[in-house]
Amino acid sequence: MPKKGTAVSAASRLEGKYTISIVTGCYEWNGSLSSQGGYPTIALPGGRKPEYAYRVAWAEANGPIPITPPPDGSYRWEIHHVCFDRRCVNPEHLQLVTQKQHVAIHNARRAAMKLAKAA
Ligand SMILES: [Zn+2]
Ligand SMILES: [Zn+2]
Repeated sequence: MPKKGTAVSAASRLEGKYTISIVTGCYEWNGSLSSQGGYPTIALPGGRKPEYAYRVAWAEANGPIPITPPPDGSYRWEIHHVCFDRRCVNPEHLQLVTQKQHVAIHNARRAAMKLAKAA
């Protein structure tokens, strides 16, 4: 039995706020989206700034997102959607990357999409 007032698990924080796609396995967020970029957000008590739901999902599954500077000179760690669905909060589709790695992944993806379109 969980004690009252202890940390809430990921399941209960995100529970009921997403729909699992049987096609992709993505956990499609049904809650609020950020006005910039349309990323899943989850409200925090006490009127604090909302948190990104996919960051919560990753942290609940893997532990806190490191705040130490990444070894490659990036200014921070970020969470990448391996499925490229920004509304997804499935921890298995989320990957901790450095900011530089993240830019590189998306640049490569953009280049590949361009090629596919040109073909
Ligand atoms: Zn996904
Ligand atoms: Zn990404």
